[in-house]
Amino acid sequence: MSMSSSSPQLRCDDAGLNPVRHVRIIGGLSECPGCGLYQRIPDLEPGQQASCVRCGQKLARRRRTAPLAAPLAFCISSAAFYFAALASSLMTLDVYGRQRTVDLLTGPMELMHEGWGEAGILVGAVTILAPAVAIGFMFAILYAGSRAQLPDWGPRILVWYDKLRPWSMVEVYILGIFVAYTKLTDMAHVDVGPAVYLIGALMLTMAATDSTLDTEMIWRHRRIDSLTRAEGDRMVAVDYTHIDDIPMPPVDHLVACSACGLVGELAHPVSNLSCVGICPRCEHRVWRRLPQTLTRTTAFLIAAIVFYIPANLYPVMTFMRMGGGGGHTIIEGAIELWVDGMIPLSLLVFFASITVPMLKILSLGWMIGQTWRGARGHLVARTRLFRLVDMVGRWSMIDVFMISILVAVVRFNAMASVTANAGMVAFAAVVVLTLLAAWSFDPRIMWDAAGRNGPVTDGLPPAVLRARKMRDGTAATSSLSPVGPAPVSMEPDQA
Ligand SMILES: [Zn+2]
Ligand SMILES: [Zn+2]
Repeated sequence: MSMSSSSPQLRCDDAGLNPVRHVRIIGGLSECPGCGLYQRIPDLEPGQQASCVRCGQKLARRRRTAPLAAPLAFCISSAAFYFAALASSLMTLDVYGRQRTVDLLTGPMELMHEGWGEAGILVGAVTILAPAVAIGFMFAILYAGSRAQLPDWGPRILVWYDKLRPWSMVEVYILGIFVAYTKLTDMAHVDVGPAVYLIGALMLTMAATDSTLDTEMIWRHRRIDSLTRAEGDRMVAVDYTHIDDIPMPPVDHLVACSACGLVGELAHPVSNLSCVGICPRCEHRVWRRLPQTLTRTTAFLIAAIVFYIPANLYPVMTFMRMGGGGGHTIIEGAIELWVDGMIPLSLLVFFASITVPMLKILSLGWMIGQTWRGARGHLVARTRLFRLVDMVGRWSMIDVFMISILVAVVRFNAMASVTANAGMVAFAAVVVLTLLAAWSFDPRIMWDAAGRNGPVTDGLPPAVLRARKMRDGTAATSSLSPVGPAPVSMEPDQA
């Protein structure tokens, strides 16, 4: 571990007023982001992964592939596929001899022309802008990772890449294209353009880049500054030890960086409510828990429920053909596919557009309710359900993407036309709000509220504290789980 030579200098007035405190960085220790348990991570062999003893969340994995060359190869291919997809046509529709060809940009542009600017910007942002920024960031990360010393901007890009990556929805867009294509084939002749195959390839190479990138190896390249800022701008000295060399520190003195996973021990119990300081490795602000997680998640969830009603009651698009036709709601879209005999596709649309938003609203509501009450049951099930909800949420965008494609391609005036309706904006709002609700929820507080994560109780609802006092007069530490090494298993084979 090399220490920085360019650390910020200790300010004299601070040094004079406050005794300089220490943060002790502890190597080999990791906090589970799912349940908040601190555990030793053994040294992993290539192809191995370690998961949490308590909730089963994956904590670390070592890749079999070359750490930089493999993701670089996939990243270069991604860039090539991206530019080629942008330059080629998506599909051509032929209605009684009249043709219309569209590309990736046409959908968002048409939505904006029709006055659905928010939806147009959203579709453009997640299908065109976000993938480009993700690929650019990945090049920067790989360049930074190839240097002997990770440059100062490297950590920031890594942190931003993690935040941005879920907004790049190429894989969901592919399904949107597929549903749009199926709806079009029974009204006209459709030619699929090269962009469809290029986006399919882009989806695969972007997934392969992520799965071969070993961020932990990149973090290991990063020096840990010997001084950092604690809350209140006070400088604190940083030293380093390994968990094998010391006894397990008290859990309420420990804090883990949510961006890079570095674990530090402070000389005093750490509050859940305030920022602890700046991470000496990645310069991210460190909080013991996501700030105001319960309030934020509840607010996003209530907003999502408000939009949920118009999203399902109002038509999302109007399909006019030879003077006939009319508005379709989300559920009518799924039923229509079923009637046309496209049963698997109908089930897929039903699952993504009806089940997933409902599942997200109900399960996040359940998790929030249980946390407010300080419930102790089903903690592992709740944590797993949260992971599922977090993972499947983006797939609800299928219908929005499908509409953006239909609106772009079906423009033949009286013969055939598709226009977007207000229901689509409400539906897109539900998807985005439930995504934000899931991202602002910190599953560790479910374990905190159940008294499983040590004595730090600030930030928990008063009802939880009262209930806990009633239940057991003893301190909440009584039910702390033992901290042993995380179990190691071989990761499923990958290409
Ligand atoms: Zn866990
Ligand atoms: Zn960090």
